[in-house]
Formats: sequence, C-alpha cells, structure tokens
Amino acid sequence: MRVEELAGKAGVSVDTVRFYQKQRLLPPPVREGRVAWYTAEHLARMARVKELRRRGFRVTTNTTFFDTDSPQDVIDVLNYLNDDLQVDQMMISPGYAYEKAPDQDHFLAVRQTRELFRKAFANGNRNRWRLNHSPMFLDFLEGKVDFQCTPWGIPCYTIFGWQRPCYLQSDGHVATYRELVEETDWSKYGRDSGNPQCRNCMAHCGYEPTAVMATSKSLKQSLRAMAMR
Ligand code: SF4
Repeated sequence: MRVEELAGKAGVSVDTVRFYQKQRLLPPPVREGRVAWYTAEHLARMARVKELRRRGFRVTTNTTFFDTDSPQDVIDVLNYLNDDLQVDQMMISPGYAYEKAPDQDHFLAVRQTRELFRKAFANGNRNRWRLNHSPMFLDFLEGKVDFQCTPWGIPCYTIFGWQRPCYLQSDGHVATYRELVEETDWSKYGRDSGNPQCRNCMAHCGYEPTAVMATSKSLKQSLRAMAMR
C-alpha cells in the first residue's frame, strides 16, 4: 500500500508516518521507482505504537530555539508537533550558550528570547499548544515576570555523580544530592550572580522550578495552572 493508505488505515497523518520512519520506528518502505510501498508489517508496527500510547507511554518533545529562528519558525514548529504529529506534549527552551557548544554565535540573549516568545505566543497560540510547562514559566519566557534560577530544582545525575550546579554547566560532581544542595555555593549561579555562563540563560532546568514554586505560593496561579493557562 502507499503511504496515504497506510496513514488512513492507522488513523494518523502522512507526516506522522514519515516522522516514525525518520525516528526508525518503522523500517523503510520498498521502493519501485518513485513509489514507496508499505506492507502489513508497517501497519502492525503503527498499531503497536498506538497500543503503547493507550497503555500510557507518552511522546514529549523538547525543542531548542536559536537567534536564527523567527517567531514564525517557532509557530510553524509547534503547530507541526501539536497538530500534524500530534505529540502528547511539547517543551521549549531558548538555546543556552554552554561553553562546549560548537557554535557560540547563535544563542539568544534575554531581550531576544522575550521578544521571540512574546510574538510566537500571540493570537492565542500559547493556549492552543500542548506545552508541558507551567503558565508562569511561559510568562517568564515572554517577559511578563522575572525569576531567579533554582538550579537544584531539576538536578542532573550522571555516571559521574550529581553535577554541579545544573544540567547545562559542570563545576564538578558530588556523590549525593545532600552534598550537592548543602556544599554548593549557589550564590555563584543564576543571571544576577554575575557569572558570565549564566548571563543569558532562561532554560527550563533552572527557571521552571522557580516558576512552579511561585505557582504553589499563589492560589490564583495554582488555579490558573490547573486550568492550564
Ligand atoms: S542560570 Fe541556572 S540553569 Fe542556567 S546555567 Fe546558570 S545555574 Fe544553570
């Protein structure tokens, strides 16, 4: 069968079939000239993915945006993930200028980040997308509120131990979470610390925990989060 027939029988869009293929969830089709032929095995695989989703497995994407991306790029990507691929939830982050990144020239500064997301979130887009963030973190991204970083809120643990201070930068590792929390000089981190590595960071690993704590301290914000913005 052709891709349109496979998509129809599986109850998904053609883009979704192609996405699964790209992610190697489906084997490549048999090609005859310019036509791609799919088999019952492809359909069975699609059914298995559907069954896994029914049993509770979730697909959540995490997309990083850079200064080469326009508000329309953000809209196009999130519309595609939300409407065409119909992933369960989506996370977004402005690119963080981490020291070892091969391309240091295209990270977003704070002002650019706020402008990018303010424009992308306009016209009801923000409410329509299934974003896996608290409303206050999204407010933070578009500059409606400002927060300090809480790097210990989403800690990073690897085979080397607990990474200090966060997932994005490494000032060494410790053996326990208690050591991480109690022995790290947290005043050295966050945008207001003067640490050049933190200067333009608005990443969710540092700021979503602050947004969640601010939400839990306010009845209004808690109700807003429960109603999903
Ligand atoms: S601002 Fe926070 S999350 Fe960002 S790099 Fe610095 S410590 Fe890590």
